[in-house]
Amino acid sequence: CGIIGYVGSVETDVTSILLDGLSKLEYRGYDSAGIAVLNSSGTIDLHRRAGKIANLVATVENGDRPGDSTLGIGHTRWATHGRPNDTNAHPHPDCTGSLTVVHNGIIENYAELRLELQKDGHSFKSETDSEVLAHLIEREYFGAANHDLVLAVRTALQRVTGAYSIGVVSQEHPDLLVGARCAGPLIVGLSENQQFLASDIPAILKHTRRILILEEGEVAELRPQGVKLTTLYGTEIEREPMIVDWDI
Ligand code: GLU
Repeated sequence: CGIIGYVGSVETDVTSILLDGLSKLEYRGYDSAGIAVLNSSGTIDLHRRAGKIANLVATVENGDRPGDSTLGIGHTRWATHGRPNDTNAHPHPDCTGSLTVVHNGIIENYAELRLELQKDGHSFKSETDSEVLAHLIEREYFGAANHDLVLAVRTALQRVTGAYSIGVVSQEHPDLLVGARCAGPLIVGLSENQQFLASDIPAILKHTRRILILEEGEVAELRPQGVKLTTLYGTEIEREPMIVDWDI
């Protein structure tokens, strides 16, 4: 039940930033955890494990730990739809594996969307409600000639009813992290040439104190040089960051 995301201009140990962030969100409760990190070949490495974050850490350390990177997302899951196993853990890839999504909350109309997407040729790998988001965004993204990830996220979310905070990354956009919220918590941490996305401030407080709190129906476009906020319908939003002066 937690989200963490990172985008920066210089390669760094994104895996550690994500795993550390997830451990700060442990208090929210969870039954599985996962990370997606852009690798040096330009594709996305996915690592997901049921159980404690320590299981995920062990898998990453004993397997193919992603090298330094500029982009990644992580998630702790509190299962609502589908068992707490490795496959149902987030991040969830689309059919192509080029984009992945993390989601907190519940997609109320997922059954209807899943049927519609299956009829369109999308094959589902998990039992979660969340996976419809990956396929909806995939359909909007590849269905439009201009391959605009932010627009695809906005258009996909216009079809969704329910509560969500989400994070989306695509290997086609190594310098972009997209976040959105509707009835779920989500914040952005601003820094020099690197930006953070998280469910809560403690997850990123050791990296920055400049925080933007997303409101209902807002989409955040995080790029290394800065962050842009819009509504689900594309209207730009101006908001000054708050400066957090407390410690964890
Ligand atoms: N409903 C989603 C699932 O069961 C997300 C749960 C959560 O908020 O962690 O996978």
